[in-house]
Amino acid sequence: MMNDDLNRATFDDVMVPNYAPSSIIPVKGKGSKVWDSEGNEYLDLAGGIAVNGLGHCHPELVDVLKEQGEQLWHLSNVWTNLPALSLATRLTDATFADKVFFANSGGEANEAAFKLARKYAQDNYGPEKYEIISFFHGFHGRTLFTVSVGGQEKYTQGFEPLPQGITHIPYNDLDALREAISDKTCAVVMEPIAAEGGIINATEEFAKGVRELCDQHNALLVFDEVQTGVGRTGELYAYMGLDVLPDIMTSAKSLGGGFPIGAMLTTTKIAKSMGIGTHGSTYGGNPLACAVADKVIEIMSRPETLAGVKTKRELIVSQLNAINEKHGIFKEIRGKGLLIGGALTEEWQGKAREFLQAAMKEGVMILIAGPNVVRIAPSLIIPDEDIRSAMEKLAIAVDNVMAAATTA
Ligand SMILES: *Cc1c(COP(=O)(O)O)cnc(C)c1O
Repeated sequence: MMNDDLNRATFDDVMVPNYAPSSIIPVKGKGSKVWDSEGNEYLDLAGGIAVNGLGHCHPELVDVLKEQGEQLWHLSNVWTNLPALSLATRLTDATFADKVFFANSGGEANEAAFKLARKYAQDNYGPEKYEIISFFHGFHGRTLFTVSVGGQEKYTQGFEPLPQGITHIPYNDLDALREAISDKTCAVVMEPIAAEGGIINATEEFAKGVRELCDQHNALLVFDEVQTGVGRTGELYAYMGLDVLPDIMTSAKSLGGGFPIGAMLTTTKIAKSMGIGTHGSTYGGNPLACAVADKVIEIMSRPETLAGVKTKRELIVSQLNAINEKHGIFKEIRGKGLLIGGALTEEWQGKAREFLQAAMKEGVMILIAGPNVVRIAPSLIIPDEDIRSAMEKLAIAVDNVMAAATTA
């Protein structure tokens, strides 16, 4: 197939219509810059939805990918491999966890986590302890189990019957949890920042309260760090900044820096319930993905990598505040580190996408987190000069949206 014959219209011809991609087709990325098939340049404040934590085509990741690409791609889980062992060692050294299960995506890592939570409760407390409590606004993936645990009805509609034994309650509401939790609860599942649900930070008090209630009822605390993990909040994992230890944690997105991989981390005691034959994945833990992720974690663990996250956030937030002083579109700037949400005021509800589209026209890639929140999640090592020029362009984009709104 000649590239010249392929364009955005091809998408509508040959792809299942579950996405509505933008009209441009990016063909190359380097650091925080992206170029499309027409040669236009974009500044990337989206980072592939918090995936390209080290930007596009980081030279050290490219080297590792090439090197491993000439060594060994895949065996099967009949054999282990050195990159997987190295990555698992790094992850367990750096976190609360003793054991790792590798998958290929966030959804799969969560699927493993929820299955393990059920199995552990069955093994240790009997068949009645199967209930999972999770939160409205939560997002955990698109498998049937993970959309069911996720707290957004729009993602489960039409896929019934759904897995049972799942209760949703409001986020940051300890009283609701106190009411809902019981000795039948096997796990409470939460994101440290409800990201897809609108960049809503868990308060430290809430996180600690959840931990206590889990302990009182022998329920496991599962932290979905698929979006918040691997340096995004300025810590390697967000739980580290909340002063709370989970029992199970999942990681994906930035873990591979753009190469697909997911991981579920837990303690030795809990991991025992995932004995031989209980769960698995053909590609999970393959040497190619693990070699790349091993390098990602190594780079993230160098003090200089995450040192800039806080000041880069301040730079972006100060520019968002400047935009807001002029136009008053945000009621709140939320998130932590380089996961930033600009929650739109009442007047702009449902219109986040307009800002995304206007930004693209000015050559800046941003994201939304639901219809009411503008999301920014760039590379953690985006140069300050790229932030400054991206924010200047974003300010123009917002001017344009406002101008169009007043003439309309
Ligand atoms: C993106 C995301 C997922 C799903 O990850 P996939 O790799 O798309 O399966 C799960 N949980 C959270 C918090 C996410 O942000």
